[in-house]
Amino acid sequence: MNTRTLPLVEVRGSHRQMGQQMGEARRESIAHALETAHQLIDDAYQTLQLTWDGARIQARKYLPFAQERYPQYIEELEGIAEGANASLDDLLVINAMEAVTSDALHLTKCTSLAVNQSRTASGNVLVAHNEDWLPEDEADVFVLRAFPDDGPPFLAMTYGGLLPNIGFNAAGIAQCCDSVYPSDSRIGIPRLVVSRAVLSARTISEAIRHILVPQRAAGYNHLLAHESGELYSIEVSARQFAVLYGLDGSIAHTNHYLDPQMKLVESEPDEQISTRIRYFRALRLLQQREKFTVKDLVEIQRDHVNYPESICNHETPGDPLDRQKTITALIMDLTQRQMHICWGNPCSSTYCTYQLDA
Ligand SMILES: [Zn+2]
Repeated sequence: MNTRTLPLVEVRGSHRQMGQQMGEARRESIAHALETAHQLIDDAYQTLQLTWDGARIQARKYLPFAQERYPQYIEELEGIAEGANASLDDLLVINAMEAVTSDALHLTKCTSLAVNQSRTASGNVLVAHNEDWLPEDEADVFVLRAFPDDGPPFLAMTYGGLLPNIGFNAAGIAQCCDSVYPSDSRIGIPRLVVSRAVLSARTISEAIRHILVPQRAAGYNHLLAHESGELYSIEVSARQFAVLYGLDGSIAHTNHYLDPQMKLVESEPDEQISTRIRYFRALRLLQQREKFTVKDLVEIQRDHVNYPESICNHETPGDPLDRQKTITALIMDLTQRQMHICWGNPCSSTYCTYQLDA
């Protein structure tokens, strides 16, 4: 078992100040993440016909839309660039990577699920997420505890120079993001900026209003949980959305649309195989118990059915464009305001716990 503990960075102040603190604390890691992204674009040249300079030009097109609606998060990115001595254009590429690569690389996988009071032994609301991404970026994962001047404190997981989006805030809102593959993507507000905004929400309505912001570039599935036990999956594309609800006290989502209307805008559904297998596997595991503990959810996160494309995702040997693995897995206890998180594949890593003291 690997017992490494993820680094914790604590930031506070204005968005620019928080960005600067993040950039300073993670300078080397941000440089590493930019190198990794550069290499990814080079390696995918056959598929994308895109150079790094081309990617910078593409990413720039999204900036005015983000700046108009969410100037504070662009300031946060500018702060990261200043603190890390990195270029804003390079950071824009990694923060709009899915858009810049037209989703052609099917980069993100991820499995998210949640159980509320009626389904936990402790009566707490628990939200779990496996983050699947390139193995090189495992080194760049960290936990962020943030105290913004203008919103609720939050605890999040992120990596490299990405805006934080997977986490929970002191208003009792938790979010996990799962990539989906809409066919109606456009130039607009990048998904990461939209989901960053959700961490500032004080109510479920406010969170969903951000998720459905006009002129969004595309969409994720946002698995939302509220400390009251309300559980949602908001499936989003650039122009459509569906609201799904966890009526039996649990909910799960992976990387394909579940709503019949949303399936109509899914790009290349025939290729979305492993996500369907992970989804049904997660549903079955959620049915096998009446009440869950954190430990039971860890067991789900370590599941190896359909290995290597399992919930605990491992690299597929010999496939250069299918190299994703689970780089971190986390369980948020919304009631206790805690995050239990492991670094690397959950099957071979121990979890440690971070607290949000608001
Ligand atoms: Zn594993």
